Amino acid sequence: MPRVAVRNLSRRSLVLTALLVVGLGLPTIVYLLMLPPARGLANGLAVHSQLALADIPFNGTQAYEYLEQICALGPRVSGSTGMQAQQRLLVEHFQKCGGQTRFQEFRVRHPQNGTSVPMANLIVSWHPERKERILLGAHYDTRPFPDRDRTNPRGPFLGANDGASGVALLMELAHAMPDLKGKLGVDFVLFDGEELVFKDGDIYFLGSDYFAQDYVNHPPGYRYRWGVVLDMVADADLQIYQERYSAGWKDTKPLVAAIWETAKRLGVREFIPQKNWEIQDDHLRLHNVGKIPTCDIIDFDYPAWHTTQDLAEKCSALSLAKVGWVIQVWLQGAAAK
Ligand code: ZN
Repeated sequence: MPRVAVRNLSRRSLVLTALLVVGLGLPTIVYLLMLPPARGLANGLAVHSQLALADIPFNGTQAYEYLEQICALGPRVSGSTGMQAQQRLLVEHFQKCGGQTRFQEFRVRHPQNGTSVPMANLIVSWHPERKERILLGAHYDTRPFPDRDRTNPRGPFLGANDGASGVALLMELAHAMPDLKGKLGVDFVLFDGEELVFKDGDIYFLGSDYFAQDYVNHPPGYRYRWGVVLDMVADADLQIYQERYSAGWKDTKPLVAAIWETAKRLGVREFIPQKNWEIQDDHLRLHNVGKIPTCDIIDFDYPAWHTTQDLAEKCSALSLAKVGWVIQVWLQGAAAK
């Protein structure tokens, strides 16, 4: 994740930008926008709750073990043997937890060599008889190369946060799904091809695009009331601002408000009720193509983003516990309505 992220410019940075345009020209601006995420706004405002793992009734330790298990498979690039190994692991896990699993298969042209790449979104259904549903999504492919790595941009990319974290959270949440009360069912959707991206111009969001197109072109016998995409949710230095598209869409605003209100009620202060990054992620296709009100939950202030350093050691069980708890409690409330 993701394609482009633009931070809202303050008046001061607008002035700075204007000066730079005059003085140094547009290439400088482009360069600045290409820099890795800075601590930026987050620094001054970052808040940390005093919550410890023992305070949180979502098993972050177990979720972190899942994250390590996924990373131990190595890179999980679309169409690779690592992806296949992950698919076997996930199917076995979710079935053991009582979920119904199916693959939504499709093929794409490899952006580099033109070969046909097998792709598959993994859909895990809970309470399939419920005709109104909530979609919880995460991409499960990893970027082919850590191209923001200054010393080793062609090195191994494990995607502990950018890839494994959302999947690991869903693996832990699965244990609570059979007992989910209420009228709404839940589907976990693991999206393939979020970033089979080698260079600028390669296409992102292949899996969520296929899923959303299929949802519209072949309407199933159920509807999604809400969608939540989880991406980069395990950073040990956790801060989750409201993503700008999600918070700006009229049909999705109430969802964003409900999730951040849940976090506030639980004392998870790392959910900061302010907008920060505008992020292109799988939620765009679900919302714009599938017409599903969908919120992206993402901590984009992550220095290891798209580097060889996106490793389990940069992630934490406590962060997974915090996000997992908020999502689970929100879900329990939303499913009841
Ligand atoms: Zn990424």
